[in-house]
Amino acid sequence: MVIILKKDSDKAQLDSLVNWLSGKGVEVHKTVGTTQTILGLVGDTSRLDIDLISAMEIVEAVRRVQEPYKSAGRKFHPEDTVIKVGDTQVGGGTLTLIAGPCSVESEEQICEIAKSVKASGATMLRGGAFKPRTSPYSFQGLRGEGLRLLSIAKKLTGLPVVSEIMDISQLPLFDDVDVIQVGARNMQNFELLRELGQAKKPILLKRGLSSTYEELLMSAEYIMAGGNEQVILCERGIRTFETYTRNTMDVAAAPVLKELSHLPVIIDPSHSSGRSALVAPLACAAVAAGADGLIIEVHNDPPHALCDGPQSIRPQAFDALARRLHVLSDAMRQAV
Ligand code: PEP
Ligand code: MN
Repeated sequence: MVIILKKDSDKAQLDSLVNWLSGKGVEVHKTVGTTQTILGLVGDTSRLDIDLISAMEIVEAVRRVQEPYKSAGRKFHPEDTVIKVGDTQVGGGTLTLIAGPCSVESEEQICEIAKSVKASGATMLRGGAFKPRTSPYSFQGLRGEGLRLLSIAKKLTGLPVVSEIMDISQLPLFDDVDVIQVGARNMQNFELLRELGQAKKPILLKRGLSSTYEELLMSAEYIMAGGNEQVILCERGIRTFETYTRNTMDVAAAPVLKELSHLPVIIDPSHSSGRSALVAPLACAAVAAGADGLIIEVHNDPPHALCDGPQSIRPQAFDALARRLHVLSDAMRQAV
């Protein structure tokens, strides 16, 4: 971090700032010019409050030269993180295909979808049990019962399962869930992130509706700071002025996040678009952009789905898409 002081700054104030910074455990290198002084800080500056320093009377400007996300960042961890989930892995060249309904609705529904996506090459099964719905009158998910049905589908197919947690009090119900999803609306629920830092399971962290890459990585940092290094980043579309699609898929998220971070990155073309017809082209774009995988909503009867029917594709469409994605992913690998 570099602190640029105002011209002709007061010597007593400068000494007091240098002492205060040294007390925070960072080395301070002072460069005194004819009219302006610059302080170069070396060491762990991640705990320094940049806004507090910027607001000091003698400070002109503060520049970070290092990212504030030390654990999630690539700088101190150059090699890609690969996360093992059951017999599969996320990252490390595997094309992760997480497929399943937005919500678990019944044993028959989740088992039928699980069998078909497994046959099409899905590596994990998704299914929401706790649903963050905009309206309190919409279907809220089967909650604990939904997770029980998801376990049945897991046993039937052998597919590891992914499901969303909304509150840490629900954690005991997630014993048989392999990957815990933190949804877009909870990306900055810092208490939840902190608690999940103690969990011994991978966390699928979705980008908030209007969050920057840095904010997403800082949320990953919350989980990692607690000791849980198994974080999968997920781009799920962001809010823009466009209303034709439910959200706007930010395809740049894949290469940008992979450049800034060693964590695996997957893309959700279903919530990104809100339209089943757009899922296949966006999924292809995600793989072409270097994503480690996709999370796709698949339903056996989309018109009657209790949640997110318009963006759900049918099992047959998923089967065709999975084939195309593998061809694309192999071609990408061969071309490198
Ligand atoms: C979901 O995966 O069904 C979901 C609610 O996702 P998001 O948090 O991205 O809206
Ligand atoms: Mn959904």
